[in-house]
Amino acid sequence: PAAAAAAAVPVAAAAPIITATSVKVNVSMPEAAARAAATGADGVGLLRIEHLIIGMNKTPSWYIKNGKEEEFITELYNGIRTVLDAFRGKPVWVRTIDSPTDEFLNMAGGEDEPHEHNPMLGFRGLRRDLRQMAQFKMQAECFKRLWEAGYDNLGIMFPLVQHPREFLAAKEAFRSWGIDVDKRVLGIMVEIPASAIIIDEFIKAGIKFCSFGTNDLIQYTLAVDRNNGMIGDMYEPEHPAVMRLIKHCIEQCREAGVECSICGQAGSDPMFVKWLVNQGISSVSSNIDAIPKIRETVAKTERQILLNMAFKKN
Ligand code: PEP
Ligand code: MG
Repeated sequence: PAAAAAAAVPVAAAAPIITATSVKVNVSMPEAAARAAATGADGVGLLRIEHLIIGMNKTPSWYIKNGKEEEFITELYNGIRTVLDAFRGKPVWVRTIDSPTDEFLNMAGGEDEPHEHNPMLGFRGLRRDLRQMAQFKMQAECFKRLWEAGYDNLGIMFPLVQHPREFLAAKEAFRSWGIDVDKRVLGIMVEIPASAIIIDEFIKAGIKFCSFGTNDLIQYTLAVDRNNGMIGDMYEPEHPAVMRLIKHCIEQCREAGVECSICGQAGSDPMFVKWLVNQGISSVSSNIDAIPKIRETVAKTERQILLNMAFKKN
């Protein structure tokens, strides 16, 4: 009878931890959207669309060359919509195409990809879109249709931005294609030291948010190829130069009231996240599996900040 009584006591579901610093999740494939949403994350801080494109097995240029833009837009639309549906009411930042030119080689159209001596420093991210407006336009058309369909939680994040004029050019292109850019959430990734140093200029240019792409920010700040194991020990997220750049950006964004986030791998590292929260970052975006630990880290760090404030001596 005692066991039966115990079994009758309902088990309370674990209450979600609410933190003042948003904890968002990185998503790379629409198939992962439901699992990502089940973590209770506050939104998607990075939706990569490269995997979706690799799944189509044709390069964006192939679609343009063959007059099949509509097909590309539809596939992209459906993939992104799956994630937006899983995160209704929460922000989802979709990153525009960021593939280096050696990433799509094995797909139809891959033979037309430019050959570069150093793809990581070359024709990728926003700089490529601004030089291949047809490719940029297909993406913009897809976003426009999603906004028109009522997906107000969609935000767009431009990768590998180096100068505010690139952001302004992107905004102008969106405007020329019928997008109300003042109403929409458009931001940048901070992946190049130059953009971290002059983040105030980006704020003046009207970014609604920025997000640290630390995977690239570390490699460019330290001149260490992120994929070169021979010098892997020099790939150091806690290098003082990297941390100073990040600290500077967070400060500037905090003063201006602009959301500052992180979506690189360092955003899944509890020690690094603890430091970021102490600097006053507004949100972090982590890998799906890291969310519970990161949420706990953020909550504990925030509590410690409060205690330090409340019981500060003198
Ligand atoms: C980054 O650079 O930190 C990032 C999130 O982008 P990717 O890893 O796709 O270059
Ligand atoms: Mg990057």
